Amino acid sequence: MISVRFLGTGGARFVVAKQIRASGGMWFRFSPGPGEPPGPTTQIHVDPGPGALVRATSSVPPCDPSELDALALSHKHLDHAGDINVMIEAMTSGGFRKRGIVLAPRDAFEGEAVIFPYAVKFVGSTQILAEKSGPFAINDVELRTSIRHLHGVETYGMHFTYRGTTVSYLPCGRYFEGLAEDYAAHHPDVLILNVLRFRDSMKVDHMNFDEARSVFATVRPKVGVMTHFSTKMLEQRPERLAQEIEDELGLRMFAAYDGWTLDVATEVAAASGV
Ligand SMILES: [Zn+2]
Ligand SMILES: [Zn+2]
Repeated sequence: MISVRFLGTGGARFVVAKQIRASGGMWFRFSPGPGEPPGPTTQIHVDPGPGALVRATSSVPPCDPSELDALALSHKHLDHAGDINVMIEAMTSGGFRKRGIVLAPRDAFEGEAVIFPYAVKFVGSTQILAEKSGPFAINDVELRTSIRHLHGVETYGMHFTYRGTTVSYLPCGRYFEGLAEDYAAHHPDVLILNVLRFRDSMKVDHMNFDEARSVFATVRPKVGVMTHFSTKMLEQRPERLAQEIEDELGLRMFAAYDGWTLDVATEVAAASGV
């Protein structure tokens, strides 16, 4: 069983600064389903932006950082990494229990590092994410990374595979030829995609809604999720836009909201029945 709790679904400076949507990232939980062979439960927190610790501990039921197996960053921008050191301290009980894995691009650890060297000493191990790297094992979950995104700082998407199911996360970045094909090659059952912009001509390193739609059309996951919204996207009502893609492409589509838990098995089964 795989579930994804959305501790934040906001993107762009204004939405994050005003906390119109929260910015706590995504909490993945992988565990054997009923009747399946036994195995560990693995919890991975992806992109813990500002407020991640508060969102995790106050969510119902709570996400317990001391049970985390790994923290993973797609890139070091503040809306994705603001609480990374806070979460490392929480995962390691303030550094008293050396444990857990931290996975991030090299520039999050070096130079203008966002992961403080003192915090790195608390964790069990670190892994440098690079283009098309992995598989990295986190218990029996495998993580592979995508092609490099066009986003200023080092940015990589993530493909999580657990017992034959793949959930992919396509983080921020400008659209370019070959991006969708790189994700399609992993045949994700679920594709979570950051759709920051609606339809504007701004030359920024983010995908807009029409580009996102074409990525979903190429990758064709069973279940698609849009998240990481700007005010422009929120004005357009993301759930309406999700319905638009669902009707057009015949995929099961969702617009994430704060506190929502995606139950992967249930939604993939429902999609297969469509
Ligand atoms: Zn970014
Ligand atoms: Zn972002």
